Amino acid sequence: MIPYGRQDISDADIAAVVDVLRSNFITQGPAVPAFEQTVATYCGTAHAIAVNSATSALHIACLALGVGPGDVVWTSPITFVASANCALYCGATVDFVDVDSTTANISIDALRAKLEAAKVSNTLPKVVIPVHLCGTSCDMRAIRALGDQYCFRIIEDASHAIGGRYLDEPIGSCRYSDITVFSFHPVKIITTGEGGMAVTNDDELAQAMNLLRSHGVTRDPALMTGESDGGWYYQQVALGFNYRITDIQAALGTSQMARIDEFVQRRHEIADWYDEHLVDLPITALARPDDSYSALHLYVIQLELDDTSRSHRAVFDSLRAQGISVNLHYIPVYTHPYYKQLGFQAGMCPMAEAYYARAISIPMFPTLTRNEQTAVISALKQACAA
Ligand SMILES: *Cc1c(COP(=O)(O)O)cnc(C)c1O
Repeated sequence: MIPYGRQDISDADIAAVVDVLRSNFITQGPAVPAFEQTVATYCGTAHAIAVNSATSALHIACLALGVGPGDVVWTSPITFVASANCALYCGATVDFVDVDSTTANISIDALRAKLEAAKVSNTLPKVVIPVHLCGTSCDMRAIRALGDQYCFRIIEDASHAIGGRYLDEPIGSCRYSDITVFSFHPVKIITTGEGGMAVTNDDELAQAMNLLRSHGVTRDPALMTGESDGGWYYQQVALGFNYRITDIQAALGTSQMARIDEFVQRRHEIADWYDEHLVDLPITALARPDDSYSALHLYVIQLELDDTSRSHRAVFDSLRAQGISVNLHYIPVYTHPYYKQLGFQAGMCPMAEAYYARAISIPMFPTLTRNEQTAVISALKQACAA
């Protein structure tokens, strides 16, 4: 089986983890701030808060922006469920903005139209969470302009996108957003096993997220009320969680960061080769706009079923049967039973549903070999043959 995604762990990565295991701290030690500093420097952001998953990062990002009951958060329907669940964790309601047909990222036209309608009905969002699908940036300049006009805050879900760039700056620079979130799950661009991070240029948001990831507890006298009782003293000043990442994971993350540009470059070589070899097939790849250097977490193909008698499902099943472990990113979030029970109905985002009806993610990871890519293409030819 050729998987759709896989981590690349080097001897140096293993040595970095072993070093931590032999050191005094396997959690709450120096490897965590070192990892945060590495990512903050790479992205050009003032602050980085490492946590145990991107899901946790999205949750504390929403809380730091004050999302709570009565608030509305908007995101893309073509994403992993965590991008929407984070709003529900805070007691807010969530809604979905349809996607662009060429990138499957949030559609600026759909966003503008939905904002105009929400203004009339007094249901404007407090926060919008654009998702950089496959590692390709959304049109952040346009989203930020709308944010300024309609007074919403922005969290970039860049779970797919560390190592990518937008308008010649790293994704994560937060030039057009309040907070950017990364995931370090093994299929993503770099890995810590499980792990995530929130980056921001805002001192107060950073301080709030820092407290929330560790029980809302502080030892910083500047954050306490009243006097310290003594050297042992700490205070709980907010209701936080244990969302901490370990030093074991952070050391792996820092070591992986040394190869991030290499990883993304390799993903581009793989994508360019796919682009060339898909031309004779009834397939369109997702667009990678010129203003963006995609991190290429995924390579999504869209089947042009009009020209073939095979169904989407038949092509998918045939690829799996031929040993290509394809996947589908993603099922429109609001069509899941949990969301249907909240009142969402099929048909609300027609572009997202049209995308879902013909998308397939084919293998994409740095160690994918040319021979494996050739096998993917010939399996696709077989699968698409009527
Ligand atoms: C992977 C992913 C997440 C969740 O990441 P975890 O680190 O597994 O919590 C959130 N959003 C998107 C778009 C993702 O792909």
